[in-house]
Amino acid sequence: MHENGNVLPPLKLSDHTIQAVLWQQNAAEYRALSYQAFNIAQLRLDQFLKEKDGKGKKAAIITDIDETVMDNTPSSVKNIEENQEFSEEEWAQWVHQEKATEVPGAAKFLNYAKAKGVEIFYVSNRVTSAEEATIQNMKTLGFPYADKAHLLFRGDQSSKKERFEQVNATHDVLLYLGDNLSDFSHRFEVPSTKKRNAAADDLESEFGNRFIVLPNPIYGDWETKGIFKGKYNWTAKEKDSLRRAQLKSYH
Ligand SMILES: [Mg+2]
Repeated sequence: MHENGNVLPPLKLSDHTIQAVLWQQNAAEYRALSYQAFNIAQLRLDQFLKEKDGKGKKAAIITDIDETVMDNTPSSVKNIEENQEFSEEEWAQWVHQEKATEVPGAAKFLNYAKAKGVEIFYVSNRVTSAEEATIQNMKTLGFPYADKAHLLFRGDQSSKKERFEQVNATHDVLLYLGDNLSDFSHRFEVPSTKKRNAAADDLESEFGNRFIVLPNPIYGDWETKGIFKGKYNWTAKEKDSLRRAQLKSYH
C-alpha cells in the first residue's frame, strides 16, 4: 500500500530497458556509432601494422562477442515481454537458437583484419556449453576464425585478465574491441561508478586508439558493478530505488 492508501501497480521487471532497446534496435545513430567504431578500428589497425613492420610476434585482435560483434537485443525484448529479469535459462535458450545478428560493420572489419594477416581471438563470457551454437551463429554471419581455438569463453572466472595474458603470450595484440570496459582492462572490474569513471579518465588516450568501444546502453558492468555496486541480491524494488537515486537532477 502506498502512503496515501492507493495500491501501487506491480513493478515491471525489465521495463526500465525499453528505451535503451528501442534505441539499439531502431536508431540510425546506433548503426552510425557502430560503423564509426569499426572505421576507427580499421584506421588504427593499418597504423599499428605499419609501425610493427612485420616484426615481433604474430599480430592479433582481441574482441568481445555480445553487443560488440553480435546483436542479442531480441533476448532483452523477450525479458520485457515475459516480465522477467536476465536469467541464464532465457539466455541459453536464445544462444542455442543461433539467431544473433551482426553488429553493423563487424564482419567487414574482422575479415579486413584477417586479410591483413591478423588473427582474431573472441574473448567472451559466454559459457563453454554455448561454444558449438556460437560457432554456428558466427559462421552464418561470416565471421573469420569461428573455431574453438579462437574462442576463449569463461571458465570459473568472469575476469578476462588471464585469457588476455594467454593471447598476449603468443601474439602481439594490436587492438581490443568491446562494449563493456572490462573487455579492455581489469581496472574496470570494481564495484563503484566513481572508480570506473576515474579509470576511464586515466585511460582517456587509449579510447579510439588501442581500445575500440561499441555502444550498449542496455546492460553491462556500468549497471551491475556501478548502479548496483557489485551486489547481486537486491530485490526488484531495491533496484528500482537505486536506479532513481543515482539520477542527477538540478535545483
Ligand atoms: Mg559484450
